[in-house]
Amino acid sequence: MKYDVIIIGAGPGGIFAAYELMRIKPEMKVAVFEAGHALSKRHCPIDGEKVKTCIGCKSCSIMSGFGGAGAFSDGKYNITNDFGGTLYEYIGKKQALDLMHYVDEINLKHGGEGTKLYSTAGTRFKTLCIQNGLHLLDASVRHLGTDKNYVVLENLYAYLENKVDFFFDTPVDSIEVIDGGYAVKYNGGALECEKCIVSVGRSGSKWMEKVCNDLKIPTKSNRVDIGVRVELPAAVFAHLTDELYESKIVYRTKQYGDKVRTFCMNPRGAVVNENTNGIITVNGHSYDDPALQTDNTNFALLVSKHFSEPFKDSNGYGESIARLSNMLGGGVIVQRFGDLIRGQRSTPNRMGDSFFAPTLQATPGGLSLVLPKRLLDGIIEMIYALDKVAPGTANDDTLLYGVEVKFYNMEVEVSEKLESCYPGLYIIGDGSGITHSLSHASASGIHVARDIAK
Ligand SMILES: Cc1cc2nc3c(=O)[nH]c(=O)nc-3n(C[C@H](O)[C@H](O)[C@H](O)COP(=O)(O)OP(=O)(O)OC[C@H]3O[C@@H](n4cnc5c(N)ncnc54)[C@H](O)[C@@H]3O)c2cc1C
Repeated sequence: MKYDVIIIGAGPGGIFAAYELMRIKPEMKVAVFEAGHALSKRHCPIDGEKVKTCIGCKSCSIMSGFGGAGAFSDGKYNITNDFGGTLYEYIGKKQALDLMHYVDEINLKHGGEGTKLYSTAGTRFKTLCIQNGLHLLDASVRHLGTDKNYVVLENLYAYLENKVDFFFDTPVDSIEVIDGGYAVKYNGGALECEKCIVSVGRSGSKWMEKVCNDLKIPTKSNRVDIGVRVELPAAVFAHLTDELYESKIVYRTKQYGDKVRTFCMNPRGAVVNENTNGIITVNGHSYDDPALQTDNTNFALLVSKHFSEPFKDSNGYGESIARLSNMLGGGVIVQRFGDLIRGQRSTPNRMGDSFFAPTLQATPGGLSLVLPKRLLDGIIEMIYALDKVAPGTANDDTLLYGVEVKFYNMEVEVSEKLESCYPGLYIIGDGSGITHSLSHASASGIHVARDIAK
């Protein structure tokens, strides 16, 4: 059996590539390989009662399966070139924004209608931030919410299931260059295709590296973002989140000149574990449905680390720090801001004194044993800066979960078509190291689908 196109990975990049191919060229034979489960079978066993922490499932339902890492995410589609990836460097700023708007239209048509599009443009908070040494980035954000995001995925699957061949629970082992295309090898079998779209996301980062090594596709080291997830009573950030939903704020530290930024803000949301290749880190999400919301808001505070030659393994550096927290805490560590400032670890007793309850059960401990001093100093400085625009951020009870790591794949060398040095072999989404978000990954899928359909 020879396919016109084989897509590897059914995250947003792969799904939107399949969607656009079927819309423009429904006669094409397309197959999608996905290491994880079909959407209906994705289920994280952590229920807070019998299973309280990550048990390291073979295929992590949070990261893998139809919908990719985005399936149980907050569904925040940021329409901007300011963050979420550098797709615009390849395809141009206007084209990147147009594609992100187009993705938004598809989401609205498939169950996202009625959700709110927030915007930072012209907001009074920009001034307030500047007056306090903070910089609020420009963006429009469509917040689908974890619940509606899931409905959109169900509808996209319903649209695609009879048009393309899905192979779930089928990780691809390797890609071989053959005459007139590629052989995609899996679990003892192989299928051939003329063109291949690789969209394996962050969970496929190690595999992507191997493919690039095997096929001698040039790559370069990317950054790693390391920090903590902050959780506090929703009231502290309500004036910002009610108007903007998500505010991406950047702060340059006085001590080192490092940039610390807020990331993935989840008003009235929950903090969750994330398992990347067996390493437990922390993340967050929130629901659109008020009945499922909590009394807390969470967001990440991250510092980007870039390394120069000869060190290439920025992800390895992030992993080592995350491993340290896993070693000391058996998973994620949580510390009250007041304890951190006083140089003492948090204990179950001290946690019990707090005026609000955490949404994730993590091990009380000390983050200074895990995070390098420079990173921790920057995070503390930013918490005090945020306290000026959102008083209460620097309260003793504010919770810091560690560590949050944003791993970026090595950046793969591709053309403006997102095509590798092999004609017809496209590398897109977070797996390419070029995108780091739902909207950019989805837009990259549409971009290559249109190129192939041409
Ligand atoms: C909890 C959480 C919350 C998030 N919230 C947001 C948010 O609100 N907004 C935002 O913009 N971003 C968010 N993100 C990030 C966002 O989900 C990703 O940027 C996005 O999913 C990337 O899409 P992708 O298609 O490139 O990769 P992925 O979504 O990672 O999909 C890749 C797929 O490829 C599969 N795969 C990997 N290797 C193989 C292989 N060898 N063979 C076959 N299949 C393979 C994986 O199983 C996976 O399903 C969140 C992430 C997490 C984990």
